Amino acid sequence: MMSSAVGYDDLVSMLRGAAERIRKEHATLSRLDSHGGDGDHGTTMLRAVNTLETTVETSRRQSIADLLEEVGWAILGVDGGATGPLLGMFFTGMAEAARGHDSLDAAALSAVFESGLASVERQTEARVGDKTMMDALVPAVRVLRSASDAGSDVVTALRRAAAAAVAGAESTRDLEARFGRAKQVGARSVGHPDPGATSMGLMFQGFLQGVE
Ligand code: ADP
Ligand code: MG
Repeated sequence: MMSSAVGYDDLVSMLRGAAERIRKEHATLSRLDSHGGDGDHGTTMLRAVNTLETTVETSRRQSIADLLEEVGWAILGVDGGATGPLLGMFFTGMAEAARGHDSLDAAALSAVFESGLASVERQTEARVGDKTMMDALVPAVRVLRSASDAGSDVVTALRRAAAAAVAGAESTRDLEARFGRAKQVGARSVGHPDPGATSMGLMFQGFLQGVE
């Protein structure tokens, strides 16, 4: 188990961990999307993480930033519905803040995730409470930063972030969707967690799994 900083190989493990979690749960994600959407979220996420894994495997071991950028562009290049472009921009946004770093301690990792979040926030007007992936992503990044500011190591900070992402995803159960396809069904979207927020929770659990 690593603890002080995320190096290139740790990043690879994190990305693979996220892919693994999504692959295991893709059927659940599609089922969640069947309540308010069109039932394809698991399939879309599976396509995204397959692309992510291929990119990780074929990447020429350059830098952390290059890998994140390649992953982002690869995901932007697949047919990803509403999610693909947001997820792709998340990784390219992370790459921007990773530039010049050989490894990421908890503070640098927080900055990288904040940059990823900022990039997503430039693509969508959805914010916390709108029943989208933002309900998991925003608290995860916030908690990562506060854990890092409090002196937590990378693993502890990611553990808190993953817990916040999963709690955030679960909190969408009682919300009415204000973005995406689920917006059309209005109050009928209440009672099931948002699929995109659920994927984000799984991704953070996978990131954690990758460093544990
Ligand atoms: P599609 O709606 O194209 O079928 P998916 O089923 O892959 O896309 O993804 C649905 C998820 O995408 C939603 O659960 C929500 O979390 C997220 N989403 C959709 N539209 C937006 C948006 N405008 N901003 C943020 N997240 C969104
Ligand atoms: Mg869908």
